[in-house]
Amino acid sequence: MAKALVVGSLALDSIETPHGTVHQALGGSCSYAATAASYFTDVSIVGVVGDDFPPDAVENFRKRGIDLSGMQVIKGGKTFHWSGYYTRDMNQAVTNTTELNVFADFKPVLSEAQRNMPFVFLANIHPALQLDVLNQVRNPKMVAIDTMNFWIEGYKQQLTDVIRRCDILLVNEGESRQYCEKVNLIECGRELLQLGPKTVVLKKGEHGALLFQKDRIVYFPAYPLDHLKDPTGAGDTFAGAMVGYLAHLGEVTDDNLVRAVHVGSCMASFVVEEFSLKRLLSIKPGELKARTDRLRSMVNLPALDEKSLVDVKG
Ligand code: AMP
Repeated sequence: MAKALVVGSLALDSIETPHGTVHQALGGSCSYAATAASYFTDVSIVGVVGDDFPPDAVENFRKRGIDLSGMQVIKGGKTFHWSGYYTRDMNQAVTNTTELNVFADFKPVLSEAQRNMPFVFLANIHPALQLDVLNQVRNPKMVAIDTMNFWIEGYKQQLTDVIRRCDILLVNEGESRQYCEKVNLIECGRELLQLGPKTVVLKKGEHGALLFQKDRIVYFPAYPLDHLKDPTGAGDTFAGAMVGYLAHLGEVTDDNLVRAVHVGSCMASFVVEEFSLKRLLSIKPGELKARTDRLRSMVNLPALDEKSLVDVKG
């Protein structure tokens, strides 16, 4: 039985970056997150598409063993479409249009098996849909959520209801500043924790990520990449890999969370090398290990012992 349930957008994206353009390419928070999670655990998805959704996208999900019984296909309907662009530094997407299409009337109905799944990821989608799924699952071991500026802007109260009920909140720096109406990221992280999640993961793109818990803040650098084509899906891949990896480990301990963020950031480093899910779908055995080893070697801070100067001289 699948261990991780993912709900989110299944989309066709039209994107422009300084390195190229794609039209109606496979995208969506659920597509990226479920694919990333599928490298570590069995995944089942909840979502909706129109009959314009490409058969090769479905085939790709199938090849990764993703359970698609919760993917509704609406005859004559149009798949969610997002279009956006990135400017030179590529740290922030600018949305041109968000066409909800079949998602506008979507009512998720979870199967018995999906209701009992222990690891739940509510990827970026309307907070009302996230709440709907949350109301159907039974006593999961862990619920993680993600969102974006579009929903913070228009549906902050519903989003707050979702945040109050999750264990792990993932946001990027812009979203955390927008939600908290503050500039300082440490203040934002602490404020978000106050709402209820035990863990907040604040992603800072090429500058890494911060993990906040009641008694600690852990900093993670990002995997250093020479070439980046399209940052779309990095956040979803990060989150999906994190959730899938935690499902694989089975327990959400402090140590496992640190491992999961390490794995999440290295998985995200693959997706940005190509447009759409091209690179994410072609990760070979050995490639993730090479990146996690390299990232680890980059943050080797030796402990300062008695022989070294451990503090300023008085
Ligand atoms: P990320 O770059 O990880 O934040 O996510 C990018 C994906 O989010 C794209 O593939 C889009 O299809 C999808 N997306 C964009 N806007 C929305 C939205 N308002 N709700 C859900 N998914 C969205």
